Amino acid sequence: YAAKESGGGVRVFQPRMTTQIQRRLLIENQLREAIDKKILQVYYQPKLHTSDGHVIGMEALIRWEHPTLGWVSPTDFIAVAEETGMIGEITQLVLYEAMRQQTRWAAEGYEVSVAVNVSPVEFRQGDFVAIVREALSVTGCCSKFVELEITESMLMADSSTIQTILASLTSLGVRLSIDDFGSGYSNLGYLQKFPLDSLKIDRTFLSDGEISPVIDMIIGIARTLCLTVVAEGVETIEQREFLIAHGCDQLQGFLFAKPLQELHATQFLKTYAEPGNRWSHRAIVST
Ligand code: C2E
Ligand code: MG
Ligand code: MG
Ligand code: MG
Repeated sequence: YAAKESGGGVRVFQPRMTTQIQRRLLIENQLREAIDKKILQVYYQPKLHTSDGHVIGMEALIRWEHPTLGWVSPTDFIAVAEETGMIGEITQLVLYEAMRQQTRWAAEGYEVSVAVNVSPVEFRQGDFVAIVREALSVTGCCSKFVELEITESMLMADSSTIQTILASLTSLGVRLSIDDFGSGYSNLGYLQKFPLDSLKIDRTFLSDGEISPVIDMIIGIARTLCLTVVAEGVETIEQREFLIAHGCDQLQGFLFAKPLQELHATQFLKTYAEPGNRWSHRAIVST
């Protein structure tokens, strides 16, 4: 079928275009149902300390397995959730689940932190600080074990409002980290205005087993600002060696583990808690 363009001409819809629109609508409807039916799951990807390979934290990553669509990537449905306002529910779900999991791990003697990705949209809507405060109090999770991963773009958006929110969040005791650092527009001068704890190097700098020279520069920036520096997307031994040699503090990537379901994440913690069994002594764990 055809649609009229604003210019008056007639443009024929490409079949691919309709498929994309249909998929978008399908995701929107199905996501609503997935949230209501509690089908979304939280997976955890370990972050290891470079010094001795102990697990320092777990990043919570949302997972959605649809009965017919299969695994839908968060990069696809998070965007839909942001546009439709469902992101708030998703963030709360992940916050509560990750905090509950943290308390279970702590109770078993594993003092790992949990990191939750926060969408810029969520940050601008409602009272995010109150949501986090409430989640901490309901779950009984200790705030120093909670990290929020925010994006660079968030810091650039509206500095005074964001500064107030971030200051309130740090006064709750949670830690703040910049995700995908170096992937967007970075105003380096801004960085020191915010109460940040760590900086995650965007994984594009480690794509296809390569090591971008930019990594060295980013580690330098982190050092200057006294921030912990984390590399995500570590896939090869060579990348790991390089990052250790150049002073990166924490490593995360498929080389160590993919995002794992709760049970496997707990097994990972147990396995690597043994000092003689740290990553530096062991082969790759596959999922
Ligand atoms: P992110 O927070 O930067 O997460 C890292 C992504 O890289 C994850 O993809 C992870 O599975 C993937 N990854 C980790 N190590 C490797 C590696 O060694 N190689 C490769 N090729 N990939 C690796 P995932 O889980 O598909 O998430 C994609 C993005 O979606 C996340 O990027 C984050 O921005 C967003 N996201 C995921 N879960 C949530 C959530 O609960 N809330 C929000 N707001 N966003 C989320
Ligand atoms: Mg992240
Ligand atoms: Mg990232
Ligand atoms: Mg990313």
